[in-house]
Amino acid sequence: MIIGCPKEIKNQEYRVGLTPSAVSEAVSRGHRVLIQAGAGAGAGFPDDEYLAAGAELIVDAPALFEQAEMIVKVKEPQAEERKMLRKNQLLFTYLHLAPDPQQTLDLLDAGVTAIAYETVTDASGGLPLLAPMSEVAGKLAPQVGSWALQRANGGRGTLMGGVPGVGPAEVVVIGGGVVGTHAARVAAGMGADVTVLDMSMPRMRYLDDVFGDKFKTRYASRENTANLIKTADMVVGAVLVPGAAAPQLITREQLSTMKQGAVLVDVAIDQGGCFETSHATTHDDPIYEVDGVVHYCVANMPGAVARTSTIALGNATMPFVLALADKGWKQACEDDPHLLNGLNTHQGKLTYFAVGKALGIDTIAPNLA
Ligand code: NAD
Repeated sequence: MIIGCPKEIKNQEYRVGLTPSAVSEAVSRGHRVLIQAGAGAGAGFPDDEYLAAGAELIVDAPALFEQAEMIVKVKEPQAEERKMLRKNQLLFTYLHLAPDPQQTLDLLDAGVTAIAYETVTDASGGLPLLAPMSEVAGKLAPQVGSWALQRANGGRGTLMGGVPGVGPAEVVVIGGGVVGTHAARVAAGMGADVTVLDMSMPRMRYLDDVFGDKFKTRYASRENTANLIKTADMVVGAVLVPGAAAPQLITREQLSTMKQGAVLVDVAIDQGGCFETSHATTHDDPIYEVDGVVHYCVANMPGAVARTSTIALGNATMPFVLALADKGWKQACEDDPHLLNGLNTHQGKLTYFAVGKALGIDTIAPNLA
């Protein structure tokens, strides 16, 4: 198969869909891999490394889109990229179609067969191609939050781990899933006093079993949340209700109960945010203040560490990329129902019911015949 990996063109996106190591695997199996010149530069992979791995460099995106039978990317195709997609071409990338009617219509118009990273599943009910980015965002949250806590950035001027004679920062993590667990581990590792709130008893049991001596767990009742945020130096929002906008767990009124200079890191901002006063920010201008509380709400946090994120994503996508290239999408999806769950559009039809429901578009079950 001819696999194409273009340079990402979304603003501030430095990740790349294929690493040189993925290229080398694909080439060793007899596939041709086309890489757009400069595609890996933002993640620290120069063109030379791709050439050494056996890739062919293509200067212009249109030539790459024209030749490739499968396009592997990171972000959803932008409007100008969507014009280059076509029927009988396979697109494998993050799509997030539910809140994006224009992209959905364009993919249907193009007739492209699109498999979305975020809807591929695994045997334990998880989302294996979303998890690596949640791990990255979770580990980043206390890092960026501790930067925001510094006085010059508007924060309280509290050091996460304290020093002898001065207590550590109090960190509250709301949501103890993938993001929350990684955030809590790093915050605890920095020496902070960490409490994780969740509503799932099995999840809290797991966290308590594994991390009992590192951080505490509390049930995420309104009362517990209201009490804990009063003394918190940092609150990390890490909830997810699958298929729904994030629930708003801290109201604007409650900000006045918090300490001046406390920091809110709303990782759930990509699902609308879990604090009433959250609005999406960018890496260029990541923080703002409301009622004396600093907010960090960057919607694509993993982009800040493009190299780690690219390698982590590549580790997770590589087996699927190879299966799709070796077998073709139909056979690969027939062999792996979890990969089939990723299929969102095929030959002008929507094949993912939650997206159809969100957008009011007719949806059909995928036909592998
Ligand atoms: P996850 O499903 O692993 O965990 C979510 C947790 O939230 C679960 O344990 C669930 O029980 C808990 N939860 C749900 N409702 C709750 C409530 N009302 N109170 C307390 N806990 C509640 O999800 P995840 O992978 O950890 O992702 C968390 C959020 O982070 C998602 O919104 C995801 O989209 C977002 N995210 C953002 C970025 C970014 O760059 N900003 C990157 C990755 C993930």
